[in-house]
Amino acid sequence: MKKFKVVLNKDTCIACGVCPSIAPQIFEMGKVKANLVGMEDKAEGIQERELKPDEVVYARNASEACPTASIKVEEISDDT
Ligand code: SF4
Repeated sequence: MKKFKVVLNKDTCIACGVCPSIAPQIFEMGKVKANLVGMEDKAEGIQERELKPDEVVYARNASEACPTASIKVEEISDDT
């Protein structure tokens, strides 16, 4: 089964607030930029984590909606 991860580039995030409105189970707004939920609130750098299967569509929707292409959904393995 394919596994996916979400990668958030905080260097290019402009804090528009779209991603938490689409996928609040994955993204939240920190003091300055978006964060992955529960991760340390930083203004720069990369955050990533594996996605649960039912989260992938939400992360992809957020990726497509992000105005600065700061969100990527990447395959991390294929066990089939
Ligand atoms: S949609 Fe993109 S630019 Fe907007 S807060 Fe999320 S990561 Fe940042």
